[in-house]
Amino acid sequence: MQPCFSLRSIGIVLAMLFLLTGCMPWERAVPTAGSEGVGDSYFPQLGNGGYDTLHYTIDLAVDTQTNTISGTTTIRAQATQSLSAFNLDFLGLDIAEVQVNDQMVIFQRAGSELTVTPAVALTNHDEFTVAIRYSGVPQPVKDAAIPFPHGWVKIEKSIVVVSEPSGAMNWYPVNNHPSDKATYTFRITVAKPYVVAANGLLQEEINNGNTTTYIWEAGDPMASYLATVSIGEYVVETEASLNGVPIRNYFPPNLDRKISASFDRTGEMIDYFSSILGPYPFEVYGVVVIDGVLDGYLEAQTLSLFDRDPIGDWTIPHELTHQWFGNSISLHRWQDIWLKEGFATYSQALWTEHTSGIRARDEELRAMYGEIESRQRPLADPSPQEMYDLSTYVRGALTLHALRVQVGDEHFFSILRTYYERFRNSTASTEDFIAVAEDVSGQKLDDLFDAWLYATAIPPFPVGQ
Ligand SMILES: [Zn+2]
Repeated sequence: MQPCFSLRSIGIVLAMLFLLTGCMPWERAVPTAGSEGVGDSYFPQLGNGGYDTLHYTIDLAVDTQTNTISGTTTIRAQATQSLSAFNLDFLGLDIAEVQVNDQMVIFQRAGSELTVTPAVALTNHDEFTVAIRYSGVPQPVKDAAIPFPHGWVKIEKSIVVVSEPSGAMNWYPVNNHPSDKATYTFRITVAKPYVVAANGLLQEEINNGNTTTYIWEAGDPMASYLATVSIGEYVVETEASLNGVPIRNYFPPNLDRKISASFDRTGEMIDYFSSILGPYPFEVYGVVVIDGVLDGYLEAQTLSLFDRDPIGDWTIPHELTHQWFGNSISLHRWQDIWLKEGFATYSQALWTEHTSGIRARDEELRAMYGEIESRQRPLADPSPQEMYDLSTYVRGALTLHALRVQVGDEHFFSILRTYYERFRNSTASTEDFIAVAEDVSGQKLDDLFDAWLYATAIPPFPVGQ
């Protein structure tokens, strides 16, 4: 007896369906709405599910007197499920219209969640564009973790974007979580004589008469909190490291030379850290010094942000090495924040060791240890309210020092380089780092990481055998 349908004929039918529809029948899921968060336990509303952003084009005119912005952000993205609707994170500003694939669509807002409903559902893997036209005065964001206002803010005569961890959504619609990185184009128009600095490379300055449009391209994947625009009356100073990494610094014209001199060794630092960590991650580096006072510095990608107050020596290597740890290797979830702050803080000690020797490094580390000895909390889960506590920085740095003491210099630096090689332009978690450390050293490191990362009590200061 022949069966009615042989396996062969089923195969032919499936192949024909695939040719006609571009997918197998079981892939034609009923479209559903993407989730309103990516599942980060510290920030359940940040990020959105169902798609992956590829590129943002942020085209804004800025009235520097009133701090009003108006324009369009266009996002190119790819669906990761069949979508009847999807969310963006966007707070406060007035939306004039939303288009998906050049068609006007309906949208709804609830707090920082913007829900977009395409006219035709999106199929899994589809690439699509969503364009949002909007205007208004950005309202600074406050989180439990960061009590001071952040995002797009006006500080005296300057406008600056300092977004960590969630401020990006106060000036552009965004999938606002570091696990979804994308490339960026900024087209920012301001009245003369204002100057616009942003991430990446300045491609063009268009003279419109009374205004100038600055076009910046950030060609490497970037987390949303690292996207920045700085508007002020700046002078640009350019140089390059000996190994050829270009540097452009934006300083206020009246800046005290003592402040700008703080950055004189940036090129040397880039080359030193490249030699021990792996090549500098991006196409360019530099800083903006705001003509005002910030509540904290930020390692915006390729363009760290400082203010005109005296700058501590430690901050220069700290913000620079975030380009490797935090920016190129982004956090997969916010509770792992030690993976960027601990690494950048330990880099300060590495710079001290390089320039002043081991004794100076140990004095620095011991002084740091003294400051956090009484602050007992597990480093790998500090809580959203305490994630920026000093212990995240210092216990993180000391965890790396303890690892170095245990595995030795050769393995330790090989661990750092391998970790960077494996996760650059991507994201990583604490478990990813532990796996690299055990893999490269060939040692089980449970006791060390249990004590430094997961236990509440801080272990004794690590000293060599
Ligand atoms: Zn930092």
